[in-house]
Amino acid sequence: MLQIKSLRKSFDGFQAVKDANLSVNQGEVVAVIGPNGAGKTTLFNLVSGQLRPDAGSVLFKGEDIRGLSPYQLCRKGMSRSFQIVKIFSRMSVFENVQTAVISRMGKTSNFFTPAGGIAVKETERILEAMGLSGKRDRICGLLSHGDQKVLEMAISLGSDPQLLILDEPTAGMSSEETATTIDLMKRLSGEMGLTILFCEHDVELVFSFSDRIMVMQQGSTIIQGTPDQVRNDPQVKKAYLGGHD
Ligand code: ADP
Ligand code: MG
Repeated sequence: MLQIKSLRKSFDGFQAVKDANLSVNQGEVVAVIGPNGAGKTTLFNLVSGQLRPDAGSVLFKGEDIRGLSPYQLCRKGMSRSFQIVKIFSRMSVFENVQTAVISRMGKTSNFFTPAGGIAVKETERILEAMGLSGKRDRICGLLSHGDQKVLEMAISLGSDPQLLILDEPTAGMSSEETATTIDLMKRLSGEMGLTILFCEHDVELVFSFSDRIMVMQQGSTIIQGTPDQVRNDPQVKKAYLGGHD
């Protein structure tokens, strides 16, 4: 699904991503972990077309996607959410998701055409899957932080992606909201067959349900492997987990 080799990106001479390597197979849940400033968000921006890499390769479903825009990548089946929630805060939950669905259908120029009717069923299906049906008419700006993050995932689903990229999906959530979100991610992967790439700084959380984990430090990949491989890697223990098991 995704193959990243020797990816590099500098900002004014500062190498935010130096040597990132990552593979994501179809149907996998893959986590990228690393301390703040390790380059996780920058890596996701490089993958999803927000930034252009200085060097290295990014293959999505076997195709070189460097230089493609987020919009083009979305059309190809890649969708990402952001560390900071991006929603239309004056619109309802339903309208936010419907906008994403309509946009995929290529009907952005006129919301009030019959496409709105087609999008209703699909929007309802997504709200149901995300447990948001009961909140469909709420104004988004008034939702709790946790609900906004779930909504943001729902918006990502509006483009009917194969690969979902989530930047710290549980950031700022209560432990209850976190558990709900993790359950949702498990269901998206298990029941809907989505491939998920996410980053997270809560290490325990990541080890509990990722198929594979990539560890980043100062812009470089230290290792990618199964939770057991990563947990037992001497370099990871020393550099990142502080020697704890
Ligand atoms: P993470 O998501 O792992 O916390 P980031 O990718 O956000 O890390 O940042 C990696 C490093 O790159 C940080 O030191 C950050 O300050 C720097 N950085 C990120 N984006 C920019 C930018 N647009 N301009 C300059 N420096 C940036
Ligand atoms: Mg980040």
